[in-house]
Amino acid sequence: MFEPIPIHAANPGPMTGAGNWTWLLRGRVPTLIDAGTGERQHLQALDEALERRALAKVLVTHAHTDHASGAPILSERMPRVRFRKMRWPERDSRWPVAWEPLADGDVIEAGETTLTAVHTPGHAPDHVCLWHADTRSLFCGDLAVAGSSVWIPVSLQGDLGAYLASLERVLALEPARMYPAHGPIIEDPPTLLRNYLRHRRQREEQVLDALGCGDRDPEAIVARIYDELRESLFPLARESVLANLLKLEREGRARQDEGRWTPVDP
Ligand SMILES: [Zn+2]
Repeated sequence: MFEPIPIHAANPGPMTGAGNWTWLLRGRVPTLIDAGTGERQHLQALDEALERRALAKVLVTHAHTDHASGAPILSERMPRVRFRKMRWPERDSRWPVAWEPLADGDVIEAGETTLTAVHTPGHAPDHVCLWHADTRSLFCGDLAVAGSSVWIPVSLQGDLGAYLASLERVLALEPARMYPAHGPIIEDPPTLLRNYLRHRRQREEQVLDALGCGDRDPEAIVARIYDELRESLFPLARESVLANLLKLEREGRARQDEGRWTPVDP
């Protein structure tokens, strides 16, 4: 039986919404997916769900704070726990535990079964999903959030082109269910992934159109393509537009010169 137990990280906030889900697989190799942020309620809920068993492993989907920063506290409380994630040395060193590397295709014992690591960069360079082939289930970290789109933070090595390739890769797996780090369980992943891809293609068209209309910087493009944007959301929208521009630049479809962007005619 494959029944991941949701354990809320109790870390609501502007960047995490209601807060993160971490996922526990009980059984022979008790394994937690994502570390949370060390909140007391999270640690208590984890203790209760473990029913006095010790945790064997923590698999971390990526080194953003809301997924990784709870590692040292977990390590203090359960010194034998092993921590694995894909390497991102500049970030991983913020949370001093003995990180063991995880690579694409690695098969990891977890609970009563095995999971396969699927490198899915874009939202973060080190982002991995964990695939349970028997049930076609995917622990998808921040690859997808039902009812919302995913932030591509270019200032933290986010990469829109890589993200779209990751969405295509996961779609090709034909997952039946996805367990995200934010929001509800995703029961129809292919529909959500196709909607994501369509939305991103539309956004890219809008950015190209804006360049064609003479907009030369992300601020002008944001003003054109987002109507009625709350001021507090402006930095996120700007970064999203910048992610599009950087993708277009990499593909030779736009260029920048001292912060001024122009389209490249095909
Ligand atoms: Zn993240």
